[in-house]
Amino acid sequence: MAKSEIETQALTSSELSSLTPCARQHMKQIKSLNTKQLAEEHELSCGCTTAPLRDLLNFYACPKCDEVYYYSFCWNAVVENSHSWHCEKCRKCREWREWHCEKCNKCTYGVSLPCERCGSMSELAKLIGSE
Ligand SMILES: [Zn+2]
Ligand SMILES: [Zn+2]
Ligand SMILES: [Zn+2]
Ligand SMILES: [Zn+2]
Repeated sequence: MAKSEIETQALTSSELSSLTPCARQHMKQIKSLNTKQLAEEHELSCGCTTAPLRDLLNFYACPKCDEVYYYSFCWNAVVENSHSWHCEKCRKCREWREWHCEKCNKCTYGVSLPCERCGSMSELAKLIGSE
């Protein structure tokens, strides 16, 4: 039984160790991907080229314009790393404008705005404010 598990495991251990936070939190789904699904090409939003899902489980820089992408399993789409991120505490992908409030332990909208629930400021907003 152990042997067949290895044979159906399409990703190498080094690929599994370099997954994006989003992919890592969808491990079950990742492990069930077969070689065909991993080879499936996804179009990048810059329009330069396509990349196989396998490469998008890690941060993938477009060879032409250097925009960095990853596959969001929360949204089932290829997203730009500069526009989105995966909150490991909420276990959800977020827009870049959202940040995680440690006090409420929830994400809130507006990097330069105080938390919509408790009014604390994000680290970035504090940084901008102190300038
Ligand atoms: Zn590009
Ligand atoms: Zn995610
Ligand atoms: Zn969060
Ligand atoms: Zn808060």
